Amino acid sequence: MSILSGVLCLKNNCYKCCLETEMIISLRDITRILEAGYKLSEFLYFDGKNWRLRNVNGRCFFLNTDGTCKIYSIRPLGCRAYPVILVESNKEVKCGVDDYCPFSQEITDRELVDGCKKLVKLFRELGEKV
Ligand code: SF4
Repeated sequence: MSILSGVLCLKNNCYKCCLETEMIISLRDITRILEAGYKLSEFLYFDGKNWRLRNVNGRCFFLNTDGTCKIYSIRPLGCRAYPVILVESNKEVKCGVDDYCPFSQEITDRELVDGCKKLVKLFRELGEKV
């Protein structure tokens, strides 16, 4: 069952990754969300280096009370890639799977590659060398 598509999360009513989120978002993500009618100040903040999704009472601004995402079809690239994350090891940055996700062990090789491509795209949009 697919993790990146959110099928496994929905089936298990899991939205752990949308609580206390620190998700970085790119200007493209921001533009898409603004075009959907949301206001900048309500859904993001700047941490001094990157724009990140804002939490309200410990929950992502876009998280519905039933655990679904208000902007699922246009959600940020980092959310689409999760639980694939970039990890630094021996000064090398690699794609890995976040153990914080209860279903991290279920990810397929194909999903890992797919998530990794999304992250590379995100970090290139952020102007980072990856
Ligand atoms: S934008 Fe949606 S998928 Fe991403 S953290 Fe917020 S609620 Fe979760």
